[in-house]
Amino acid sequence: MKEKYYISTAIAYTSGKPHIGNTYEIVLADAIARYKRLKGYDVYFQTGTDEHGEKIELKAREAGITPKEFVDNVAKEIKSIWDIMNTSYDKFVRTTDEQHEKVVQKIFKKMFDKGDIYLGEYKGLYCTPCESFWTESQLVDGKCPDCGRDVELKAEEAYFFKLSKYQDKLIEYIENHPEFIEPESRKNEMVNNFLKPGLQDLCVSRTSFDWGIPVDFDSKHVVYVWLDALTNYITNIGYDPDGSSEEFNKWWPADLHLIGKDIIRFHTIYWPCFLMSLELPLPKQVFGHPWLIMSDGKMSKSRGNVIYADDLVNEFGVDAVRYYVLHEIPFASDGVFTRDLLMERINGDLVNILGNLVNRTISMAKKYFESHLENKKVVEEVDNELITMINALEEKVETKMNNLEIGGAIDEIFEVFRRSNKYIDETTPWSLAKEENKKDRLETVLYNLIEAIRVCAVFIEPFLPETSERILNQIHSSDKSFRYNENSIYDLNEAEILFQRIDISQK
Ligand SMILES: [Zn+2]
Repeated sequence: MKEKYYISTAIAYTSGKPHIGNTYEIVLADAIARYKRLKGYDVYFQTGTDEHGEKIELKAREAGITPKEFVDNVAKEIKSIWDIMNTSYDKFVRTTDEQHEKVVQKIFKKMFDKGDIYLGEYKGLYCTPCESFWTESQLVDGKCPDCGRDVELKAEEAYFFKLSKYQDKLIEYIENHPEFIEPESRKNEMVNNFLKPGLQDLCVSRTSFDWGIPVDFDSKHVVYVWLDALTNYITNIGYDPDGSSEEFNKWWPADLHLIGKDIIRFHTIYWPCFLMSLELPLPKQVFGHPWLIMSDGKMSKSRGNVIYADDLVNEFGVDAVRYYVLHEIPFASDGVFTRDLLMERINGDLVNILGNLVNRTISMAKKYFESHLENKKVVEEVDNELITMINALEEKVETKMNNLEIGGAIDEIFEVFRRSNKYIDETTPWSLAKEENKKDRLETVLYNLIEAIRVCAVFIEPFLPETSERILNQIHSSDKSFRYNENSIYDLNEAEILFQRIDISQK
């Protein structure tokens, strides 16, 4: 029996095309999902789109189309970018899917019947022309941030969820499950800034707009935002208040919700309280990742500094972009995107270290042995260090991946590439080739190099899936084992360029 692993991204809001900063999360989740599959887990990887709300209703009106047409277009665009990034999600879910809507209605009713949802009054600052409630902090110079008109204090009937009922239970849970919120700095922030001062009940319905899931027993209300969005994690794997599917029992609780640090509060406070109300177990871990920002701050259309993933992929190739975002964004602090650094990484790491190693080794094997290599086992002391490093890679990568230090895991693999390049300098195959009695030694050296490349290609798959496949194809191997194999026989294919050097002066 394989161990299961359920990983999700947050669902992307369908208000517009996602930029590279919004694309980081799906690539990060993909690397983790692929890694778990590599390690033999039965993986379920879910992503998708969050499609309801007033903002979308307004945008659709501006575009002169229905909200459904609007979200169909944007969801299609988001999915195509996830595909361009070569992400291996198992299911792309949408909150306008019929099944999701039906189950959200049942969840709402169940919470209402239980007394966890009650009818109350929502008070806020209201802009009549925009039909929008705003909070004090959203106002711009005291006026509506959308149209600049005056706002007035207004109340509307709304349903509320009793967050306060679960507050103590949640504090206790978080304190007993130190792994639940990562990174740890976020955990302290949630407990000290939000939970301990006391939770306000949460507004979970609205009557001021229509683009939402109707509350089926009170049809002037639509379900408001978080109750609709967060429940995607269970409605799409077969949760049903009247009896869940076997699929649900298999996958729930999720092993990891991967989300942006800006929505960690909703995932570590609202979501657990909803689950407690439904008497379901909580996800094992919520990780709030840092952001990818520009050198002049957060990416935004109004700043004019937006970069899209598909443009970068067209220019540099998918694995170069994946490498950059996975490698450059640290575990706990924001990463900066610059074209210069991207090009530097391509030339420095992907061309010089990885590409050259593979190309030189395969070329030498062709030149000296017509691409046929066996291990002649003429061993010298210098081999041991390389082989020891190859065999230590599995554990090193595992440690980093368990801590979700993706960049660190990639570094471990590149250390072996680097060591292999150094091994070429140390063993100088071109001089061995000049001496007839060193032929078996030369073949042993090249064999060791190909084994190093093979094991690295296996481990690089979660991060650079296309490159991994191309390397394994060039060395003509289907051996996916994680350690140095001393008894293979290689008939290599032709060397091909893996990454093109970029002429930075031309960019
Ligand atoms: Zn307004």
